[in-house]
Amino acid sequence: MSHLFYQGRGRKPVLDQARGVYMWDKDGRRYLDGSSGAMVCNIGHSNPHVLAAMQRQMEKSTFGYRLHFETEASEKLASRLVGLMPEGLSKVFFVSGGSEAVESGMKLARQYALAVGQGTRWKVISRAPSYHGCTLGALATTSYGPLTVPFEAMLRPMPKVPAPRAYLDGLDPDDPATGRHYADTLEAQIRAEGPETVLAFLLEPVGGASTGALVPPEGYMEAVREVCDRHGVLLIMDEVMTGAGRTGAFLGCEHWGTRPDIVVMSKGLGAGYAPLGAMIADERLVDPVLEAGGFAHGFTYAGNPLACAAGLAVVDEIERQGLCENARTMGEKLIARLHGLMQKHEIVGDVRGKGLLTAFEFMADRDSKAPLPKALNAHQRFVDIAYANGLIVYSRRTRDGVEGDHILVCPPLILTDTHLDEIVEGLDISLSQFAAELAS
Ligand code: PLP
Repeated sequence: MSHLFYQGRGRKPVLDQARGVYMWDKDGRRYLDGSSGAMVCNIGHSNPHVLAAMQRQMEKSTFGYRLHFETEASEKLASRLVGLMPEGLSKVFFVSGGSEAVESGMKLARQYALAVGQGTRWKVISRAPSYHGCTLGALATTSYGPLTVPFEAMLRPMPKVPAPRAYLDGLDPDDPATGRHYADTLEAQIRAEGPETVLAFLLEPVGGASTGALVPPEGYMEAVREVCDRHGVLLIMDEVMTGAGRTGAFLGCEHWGTRPDIVVMSKGLGAGYAPLGAMIADERLVDPVLEAGGFAHGFTYAGNPLACAAGLAVVDEIERQGLCENARTMGEKLIARLHGLMQKHEIVGDVRGKGLLTAFEFMADRDSKAPLPKALNAHQRFVDIAYANGLIVYSRRTRDGVEGDHILVCPPLILTDTHLDEIVEGLDISLSQFAAELAS
């Protein structure tokens, strides 16, 4: 009997080993990690350079409390990250995960507003659907029914605007008018709230679990930045999933040249080697907060030297192996292959993504974009079938099943053509089995 519990009752196989893109359970079954865990293990499992760097750090020290010491590892990682950020984002605040990073970004923005005499600003507008984390602050900006509804009474509601799902709204994603249209809904929301109450707009550059690799329409990112500037609203870029090379650039927002005021990262930064996250802010925000008495926020494990040593070695590996570039080229191949599967399997209604953040969505009817019935629990059923075939993929039902099921295919960025063939074969077999099951 296990004493562990997570989200449900299901018992999982026990993990034994993981190397590169593969994982083995205690019974010796092999799985291809087609989702990098939860879009975490960007550089693959058991990378010897990262393990060696962690070993070296462990022999020196494993903990130094942030109010007593800086550590060499955290200093080095901070300056390395700053070198990879847009100009001016030069202040780094380490945390241990994505929700903590989002909370930290929101709180820094709020303290900045207070420090510069804009204390009426507190609302963080985000998008629906979206996922920004499970702590109460991050959850208030999240729009994903199953995780938010039980806690609504405990949340301070934050305004939401529609995610730019052009494919569902019948708009052309390549037409700049489409991007403008969604940015206009943000502007209308800011005006409706009263701009003097709006602190920030929080978004993922490419959608993750909630929207299934949603790529913004043409012109959207640029227009959103303009809208924020016009109303003195800060732009917080949630790069928890997209950061550390996942979309084919170190940050997802680089694809559009968007300059956020605050970036939050996690997942691929620690890459599964250590719990690590970072909030990287424009110095123009941080200085007034520090002058006004300091940032009233912090976590015990922040800047942990072992996590930072791992993060530094992860960034080294991303650069040494050219993983952003590999994510770009392999991502293009993967998307093309997913389109091939869409042609073959009627049930796949949409394919999308950027770099190795890709997804396909099930639809009962491609023309009307009707989702499969919620009762089928299609996304979970497909994940189970793929798992039984030795392929791990990640799934979510968008907005409590009303609007469909998608499957994220996000393998480690070290992906080769052989791995890609194996993934596509696993998906193909699993889609055939799933379709047969639906037909029976
Ligand atoms: N933000 C995004 C975009 C995420 O995808 C996630 C996790 O999936 C989070 C925040 C929360 O990160 P964590 O689960 O590490 O707290």
